[in-house]
Amino acid sequence: MQCPKCKLFNTEVATKCDCGFDLQNDTYTEKPAKIKIVVAILFVLSCLYMTTGFFVIHPMGILPKGSTVFFWRVGTDLPFISSTEGIVEDSGQDVSILSRVVVMAGVVDKIKDGVIIRLPYSEFLYSISTKQ
Ligand SMILES: [Zn+2]
Repeated sequence: MQCPKCKLFNTEVATKCDCGFDLQNDTYTEKPAKIKIVVAILFVLSCLYMTTGFFVIHPMGILPKGSTVFFWRVGTDLPFISSTEGIVEDSGQDVSILSRVVVMAGVVDKIKDGVIIRLPYSEFLYSISTKQ
């Protein structure tokens, strides 16, 4: 059965065409495009949330402007948003230059092959990554 609207051939048992045309009642109902777009965006975002992350490097001596690294997170056991200070806090250590350097070295080692893009430092993401 050919759809009168989009000319697509549907199976005999099909009651509705993919384009939204009702083959039984000969009526056409527009698919709610906005909902589909929202669902698609949510799907992409949830995929990104599962597979990528942000690592915020607070401005410090070796990196005066700081940086935010967007990276592939799969296999790194890092949270979605993290920073050296946040990781040091989570481990229960005091945030010192030494602990930051140690954590930084470990994280850089984990994410160096998965860097997607380097972004400017984000105070907002940094504040999420730390409890303060
Ligand atoms: Zn159709």
